[in-house]
Amino acid sequence: MKSLAAELAYFFRGRARQNLKVLLLYCAFLAGMILIYATLFRFLMWNLEGREFTFIAGVYWTITVMTTLGFGDITFHSDPGYIFAAVVTVSGVVFLLIILPFGLISLFLAPWIEHRLRYHPTLELPEETSGHVVIFGLDPITRTLIRKLQTRNIPFVVVTGAYETALRLEEEEGFRVVCGAPTDQKVLQGVRVGSARYLIANLSDPENANLCLTIRSFCKTPIACVVNEPEHAELLRLSGANQVIPLHKILGRYLATRATTRGALAHVIDSFGSLQIAEIPVHGTPFVGQTLEQAAIRQRTGLSVIGVWERGAFTTPSRETLLNPGALMVMAGTREQLEALEALTGEQSAEDLVFILGHGRIGCAAASFLDRKPVPFILVDQQANPDCAEHIPVIGDATGRGLLKQAGIEKAKGLIVTTNDDSTNIFLTLASRHSNPNIRIVARANREENVDQLYAAGADFVVSNASVGANILTNILESKESVFLTEGINVFRRPLPTALAGRTISDSRIRPQTGCSIVALELGEGEEPLIVPPPETLLEKGMGLILIGSPDQEAKFNQAFFRD
Ligand code: AMP
Ligand code: ZN
Repeated sequence: MKSLAAELAYFFRGRARQNLKVLLLYCAFLAGMILIYATLFRFLMWNLEGREFTFIAGVYWTITVMTTLGFGDITFHSDPGYIFAAVVTVSGVVFLLIILPFGLISLFLAPWIEHRLRYHPTLELPEETSGHVVIFGLDPITRTLIRKLQTRNIPFVVVTGAYETALRLEEEEGFRVVCGAPTDQKVLQGVRVGSARYLIANLSDPENANLCLTIRSFCKTPIACVVNEPEHAELLRLSGANQVIPLHKILGRYLATRATTRGALAHVIDSFGSLQIAEIPVHGTPFVGQTLEQAAIRQRTGLSVIGVWERGAFTTPSRETLLNPGALMVMAGTREQLEALEALTGEQSAEDLVFILGHGRIGCAAASFLDRKPVPFILVDQQANPDCAEHIPVIGDATGRGLLKQAGIEKAKGLIVTTNDDSTNIFLTLASRHSNPNIRIVARANREENVDQLYAAGADFVVSNASVGANILTNILESKESVFLTEGINVFRRPLPTALAGRTISDSRIRPQTGCSIVALELGEGEEPLIVPPPETLLEKGMGLILIGSPDQEAKFNQAFFRD
C-alpha cells in the first residue's frame, strides 16, 4: 500500500504535476465539447426532423458517435444532419482517439516508465561493505559533515524513511542513500551497521534512543548521538550511545563566552595534562589598543598568546599584532597563570549587560551559562519557551520597531543574536551595529552560507551550528586527540615524527610546510610541558607535540609527517 502511495505521489510532483493540470484542462475541454454537441443535436433533430430527444439522449448520441461506436439506433435523415454527424465523428477521432491517448502516453506513461527505470530505492548495501559512516537524520549539521567526509574520502550512507527524500538525495546530490525506517532491524542490517566505522544518530531524542537500543541488540559499532535536550544525555547513554553531544548547550556556551565583556572570563577550551588552552576576549581587559609586545602578557603572567581571532579570522600573532576590542585571544598556560591573568584583568571588569535575542534551545543555554558567572542579561523572544521556567524573556518580535530600544539595548555591552532565522539574525546584527558601534555582537548562523553576511552586517563573532556540529562529529569519527577549538581551528596532539628528531623547531619547518604552530612540547612522564617553545628548541625522540592549526593545516601535517 505504501509503495502504491509512493507511486501515486510521483504524479503530484514537479513536471508530472504540471502535466496533470494540462490533462484536467483537456478533459474539461472535451466535456464542454460533448455538452455543446449534445445541445446542437437536440436543436437540429427538433428543427430539421421534428423529433424530440432528452438531453441524456443527446449526450449518449454524441459519445457513441465521437468514439466511432455509432450503434445506429439514433440517426439523422437529412443532409445537414449527416454533415453534423460527420463533423462530430471526425472531431471525436481527432480529440478523443488521437490526441488524448497520445497526450497520456507522452505526458504520463513515458516519463513514469523512465522514472521507474532510473530510480529504485536502495534497500541494502552489498554485504562486503565496511568502514563506512551511517548517518541517520539529514540536516545542515550532517550535510556539512558529509562534505567533510567527501573531502576525506570516507564512505558514508544516509538512511531515510522518506522515499521522496531518498530520491532527491540520490538523484540530485549523488549521495548514497538507503530507503527504509531507521529503527527497522532489517534496514539496519541492510546498511551493514555491524561493519560500519561509526553511526551518527541525528534524529529526535526518542527516535535516537530507539535507534541505539535496536542497534545494540545485535552489534557494537560505536554510535555518536546528537541530543536535543541535555537532560536526555544520560538516557541516550543508557540506550547504548558511545558519545552524546549536547549540541545546543555547546553552541549556547560558545555564544555566551564570546559575548561577555567582563575581563576576568577566561574560557578554558581544553587541557593537555597541566597545559590549559583558554580563550579570553580582549574587550574589557587593560590590553585594548596595545600590541602584543606592549601588553607583555607573557612577562606578566607566564601565559603565551598562541592565536588571535578577529572577525572570523584566526591568526598566529606576532609582536606587532594589535589587540582590538573585538578580538579574542587564545592562550596556553597553566591554571595558575590563567588565574594571574584573571587577577590582572579582573579589576577592569566593567558594568556588564548582555542582550540575548532568541530564547530557544541555544539562547536558553547561553542564558544559563551567563547566569552561573553571573553576568546580567536580558532575553527577548517572540514567544515563551515551554521548556524553560527559569528565565523570563521580554516577549515580542526583536525586529519590531522600538522593542530593543525600549528594553534598553543602549546599555548593553554584549549582544547574542540567536534566532532560528538567518535573515532575522542578519537584520538584527545590522540594526544593532548601526545603533551601537561599540557593542560586542556574537551571532549564530543556522546555515553556513550566511556566515559571511553576518560578518558583513557587523558581527564580531559568528558561530555556525552546522560547522560546530560537523567539526565535533568529525573529530569523534577520526578519534583523533584533537579538540575542537572553534570553527576552523583545532588543537591536536601528535608524537614527534621520527624524521624530525634531532632538529630544532625552526629547522623542522613545520610552520612553513604545514601552517601548523607548536603550542607545547611534552617532554615525558611527570615533566612540565614546554609551552610555546622558542624556535631554537631541540626536538628529541619521544617528545609529544601539541599543535594548533586549521583542519586543512592539520591534514597537511599528517600528510607531511605521518604518511603510511
Ligand atoms: P532555537 O532554534 O531552538 O534556538 O529557537 C530560536 C528562537 O528564536 C525561537 O524561540 C523563536 O521564537 C525565536 N525567534 C525567531 N524569530 C524571532 C524574532 N524575530 N524575534 C524574537 N525571537 C525570534
Ligand atoms: Zn531559558
